[in-house]
Amino acid sequence: MRFLVVEDEKRIADFLARGLESAGYAVDVAHNGARALELSQGTDYDLIVLDLMLPDMDGLNVLAKIRNRKSSPPVLILSARGDLDDRVLGLERGADDYLVKPFAFVELLARVRVLLRRGQPMPERLQVGDLVLDCIRRKVTRGNEVIELAPKEFSILEYMMRNRGRPLSRTMIVEHVWDMEYDGLTNIVDVYIRHLRSKIDEKWPAKMIHTVRGVGYMLDSSERPHAPDRP
Ligand code: CA
Repeated sequence: MRFLVVEDEKRIADFLARGLESAGYAVDVAHNGARALELSQGTDYDLIVLDLMLPDMDGLNVLAKIRNRKSSPPVLILSARGDLDDRVLGLERGADDYLVKPFAFVELLARVRVLLRRGQPMPERLQVGDLVLDCIRRKVTRGNEVIELAPKEFSILEYMMRNRGRPLSRTMIVEHVWDMEYDGLTNIVDVYIRHLRSKIDEKWPAKMIHTVRGVGYMLDSSERPHAPDRP
């Protein structure tokens, strides 16, 4: 997997390149828009991390040019501009996700991993251990037991099962399950996770929902060892 990081601030570019490299990705860095376009023309990147404020051109123009090409990789926009207008504009112009500075590296990594999984076919039935979610009939079972979930609980569970084994931050869960106008606290995720746990985990010795320290939550069958996860 080869990534292109487009960021003029050397400190941030280095931080991103080092972090992504230690996560096992190959990383090229462009410090301005022209260089980003040149590099992305010659190389098939798997993902582009794109800062919006560049010295020679607006990151949104870089995005538009990349999107005009025949094949273009997922683009994760990175910006200090956090207001909703910029964010909507970025997504409208074809960005796949948007992260506002300052951000924690674990959050970036979690988003990168979700983006890399996109484009793979979506199964209609998700299964993790004995937990089964039928996306068409919107039915959840664990073992032989049918589990009744509220719509938001179902959406969270579906999102987590689609990304099994990947840590998902509270922000990612909020943004995935609530619409973009929702500007409440991400604490609501903790409340819903508590409900979900009481429905899909409480009665079973093998837990599915795990707390990931410093990130958020992850769903996986619990064959692998993990730290005790109740607060
Ligand atoms: Ca910048």
